[in-house]
Amino acid sequence: MRPVIGITCAWDEAAGRFFLADNYVAAVEAAGGLPLPLAYTGGSDCLDRLMPLLDGLVLSGGGDVDPFYFGEEPVSAGGEITPLRDQYEIELCRKVLNIGMPVLGICRGAQVLNISAGGDIYQDISLQACAAIKHSQQAPRWHPTHRVAIEMGTSLAAITGCTLIRVNSFHHQAVKTPAPGFTVSARSEDGIIEAVEKDGDVYVLGVQWHPEAMFERCKHSLSLFRSLVQASLKSRDLKEKRNV
Ligand code: MN
Repeated sequence: MRPVIGITCAWDEAAGRFFLADNYVAAVEAAGGLPLPLAYTGGSDCLDRLMPLLDGLVLSGGGDVDPFYFGEEPVSAGGEITPLRDQYEIELCRKVLNIGMPVLGICRGAQVLNISAGGDIYQDISLQACAAIKHSQQAPRWHPTHRVAIEMGTSLAAITGCTLIRVNSFHHQAVKTPAPGFTVSARSEDGIIEAVEKDGDVYVLGVQWHPEAMFERCKHSLSLFRSLVQASLKSRDLKEKRNV
């Protein structure tokens, strides 16, 4: 039976709409999961009720996280922030990490993952991290434009079976300091952190690129979703055994 994979939505404050690119849904479905888009709901009691309904989570891409969450004032190059989304995703992510549910963070989601676990990010990689290559590509979303070098021995290396892959790039922020218990799994040539993962057996991975826009053409991108679905299946089986 397909594991249920929650996917966080974006929020358009002016229009009063949640929205989610359909390729997140398509990628989870293609990988064998049941995608469940998540609108933001109230407080902790709603999230506690949600937890048993999910087997895994995708934190989707989007705008900037309020630097308040990692103790900084906003830099001039910062982008739009969505307070309701920040609050919901960070609380959700902390609960998911706490119970050991598998999670894949994509772009903003990788940053949410790292911040939720106590790390921080560059608010603008051109301004603060001397990003030397183009991370805001002007090419179709499915097209990879830069390389990332994957650290040997990481989960990401095991998932892709590679030490160098080509990825797409649509970000002006990136992880600065990995959260305690997290490891850098990939960097671009200019040293920008392109992926992080949590040490240990639970599947907790954040990638700066957008595999959902590439999965139909790129086997590594599909592998990211397949590995999440596999981990979520395993996690659900363990959960069911505990409840017997
Ligand atoms: Mn990049």
